[in-house]
Amino acid sequence: MFKKTIIESTGKSPWLFHINAGSCNGCDIEIVSVLTPRYDAERVGFKLVGSPRHADIAVVSGPVTKQSLPRVLRTLEQIPEPRCIVTCGSCPQSGNVFRDSYSVCGPLSKYVHVDVDIAGCTPKPEAIMDGLLLAAQILAEKKKTGNQEATLPNPYAPEKTAEEAKPAEEKTEEKGEA
Ligand code: SF4
Repeated sequence: MFKKTIIESTGKSPWLFHINAGSCNGCDIEIVSVLTPRYDAERVGFKLVGSPRHADIAVVSGPVTKQSLPRVLRTLEQIPEPRCIVTCGSCPQSGNVFRDSYSVCGPLSKYVHVDVDIAGCTPKPEAIMDGLLLAAQILAEKKKTGNQEATLPNPYAPEKTAEEAKPAEEKTEEKGEA
């Protein structure tokens, strides 16, 4: 099932680029374990690449610190469309224990359209695999429809508050008005 979805998604294996936006490294260790022999995401086609220009899916961990934000946004822009943005762990989704810290300006959805949220602190490798599969399906949808904001329901995502559910542009406008 994994392989079929992946082949339908892009006609090639979806390549991943991992961005650490100030993570404690817990999520990053789990991302690595997904890529190592026990879970072996490569066996179904997911491949970690060293350049965002070669990637289809960005996996972002960490609460998005003020220092990392410009680099994160610049890196995300370098991923060619159609692209999928996945947040790994509670930090990029809500700030988690770092929320309202002086150095944190997340969640990531304040700045860009996020396609898949993988919940947990840390998320289990199985949850990361499920999130990546969902990202591959969304990628297929984006390719088919040409809609860069195409989405599918994510059974694993945490419930969002009304504020968090607003589209990225609305939030940026509100920020500009303030
Ligand atoms: S979600 Fe948890 S494990 Fe992941 S970066 Fe944040 S604090 Fe660390």
